[in-house]
Amino acid sequence: MEDCIFCKIVKGDIPSKKAFENEHVLAFHDINPGAPVHVLLIPKKHIPTMNDVTAEDLQVIGEIHAAAQQVAQETGIAQSGYRLSNNCNKDGGQEVFHLHYHLMGGSKLGPLFA
Ligand code: IMP
Repeated sequence: MEDCIFCKIVKGDIPSKKAFENEHVLAFHDINPGAPVHVLLIPKKHIPTMNDVTAEDLQVIGEIHAAAQQVAQETGIAQSGYRLSNNCNKDGGQEVFHLHYHLMGGSKLGPLFA
């Protein structure tokens, strides 16, 4: 997608601090971190939202989970704990419409529900 910032990061047109990369998945540090460790994990393929994931994407979704596990180990948050989350559409708080998962940890995170 031409005007998608995460597609531009995949292509290298926008720089990123990479945490993981394979053929289908890229992980990079969030530019505005909400926790001491805040990494975004994305499929290289442009999938706008969680609603657009199809059966043929299930392999890359699995690869994203494996990558999250590896990044959590490598950033030292695996044992203390972390959150892996996806925001979908307006009410979910999605701002960038290229599927991504937030991996956050490194301190005690606030509750999801007040
Ligand atoms: P969303 O609200 O779930 O869509 O999250 C989008 C995330 O992308 C936010 O946490 C932003 O800080 C992050 N973000 C936006 N642009 C960039 C960038 O160029 N590099 C890294 N992270 C970005």
